[in-house]
Amino acid sequence: MSKVFVLDANQQPLTPVHPGWARLLLKEGKAAVWRRYPFTIILKRVVSSSTLVHSRLKIDPGARTTGLALVNDTNGEVLWAAELTHRGFAIKESLDDRRAVRRSRRQRHTRYRPPRCANRRRSSRWIPPSLESRLANVLTWMARLRRLCPLAAISLELTKFDLAAMQNPDIAGVEYQQGELMGYELRNYLLEKWQRRCAYCQKTDVPLQIEHIVPRAKGGSDRASNLTLACEGCNQAKGNQDVRDFLADEPDILAGLLAQAKTPLRDAAAVNTTRWALFERLKATGLPLETGSGGLTKYNRSRRTLPKTHWLDAACVGQSTPEHLETSQVVPLLIKATGHGNRQMCGVKDGFPMRHRKRQKVHHGYQTGDLARAVVPAGKKVGTYVGRVLTRASGFFDVVTKAGRIEGISHRYCKLIHRNDGYTYAKGECHADPKEAT
Ligand SMILES: [Zn+2]
Repeated sequence: MSKVFVLDANQQPLTPVHPGWARLLLKEGKAAVWRRYPFTIILKRVVSSSTLVHSRLKIDPGARTTGLALVNDTNGEVLWAAELTHRGFAIKESLDDRRAVRRSRRQRHTRYRPPRCANRRRSSRWIPPSLESRLANVLTWMARLRRLCPLAAISLELTKFDLAAMQNPDIAGVEYQQGELMGYELRNYLLEKWQRRCAYCQKTDVPLQIEHIVPRAKGGSDRASNLTLACEGCNQAKGNQDVRDFLADEPDILAGLLAQAKTPLRDAAAVNTTRWALFERLKATGLPLETGSGGLTKYNRSRRTLPKTHWLDAACVGQSTPEHLETSQVVPLLIKATGHGNRQMCGVKDGFPMRHRKRQKVHHGYQTGDLARAVVPAGKKVGTYVGRVLTRASGFFDVVTKAGRIEGISHRYCKLIHRNDGYTYAKGECHADPKEAT
């Protein structure tokens, strides 16, 4: 069950409670709503913090979506979960737009300037703005959750596969260890290395089997350098043959295969800069930080027979994952990063200035992006509308509801639900991402 966050009167985070209890506290006037997203109540008294239950924040960073889960390590209960969708590509697009506008202006308004020499230096820790935004999203949510819930530790999925575990010489006999952690690490590694296609017929989108290039019967080893992936047909056809015999008619494919088998996957592919940067910054928070590999996450999830979603992946990160995860009735909060508007001073259309930025952003106490409920008692637009407002200096706002945009609603009919904080929220079922499934 997704729990409700509770603060005491001093805004100290307390153990999250069952929604039913929160409802009772609100009804009896012992608490008030503090934040709508994530839903948090604030008690009207101070509570001594001796019996707090500390939870672990688990993070599965992704390129598009990051899974977040708060797990109670002692009983395996998932207290709260979310899927955070990043802005990545939107940032790149707006930077491209800015570059185009700036370039055009400099062409038009200034005399010839010699090209600028490459005298700009980037710090060694520089990462592209689109990736920086992902980091900032995760760190923002980690800081927010820390203010709402007592946190004891963080778990982060740091690498795709555990290369150290794979090179461990004690581990042998891959095929006889299917279902063991090692198999997952290796399988992921091979999928990446052989680009998810059959090494013999180059077919993609078919179930792939782990294949020994030099068969074990002929003294081939179980090391990753002797393994490849084949579709069932090719695997059967090759059988116990040596690869040199099997591909005797196709020397090109054979040469390519042998070369690729010897080349270990570059570290760059296995180690992700953004995740390491996130690791460094999470370490700076001072909370105990545990890391796990993607293979371990998948192993944990499969052993607990959980479906593949971002938030369940997050709950399965790391060695600390409890034996039983209580996930029933957990509804993840779907968080989408929207940013805080742009800094453009002059909007252009076809290169011509169309509108200039207003000095004022707040009108009648509202800012564009605030979530509000408008109850219009009479007139043409009579009704109740819940959605984001687009503010106007005139005091007549637009309200963007799920059904569409309602124009010209007076600010007097609006009641604020949630201030614009750079994210939009939804609740609901999450489905596995087919692209990321293996
Ligand atoms: Zn094949």
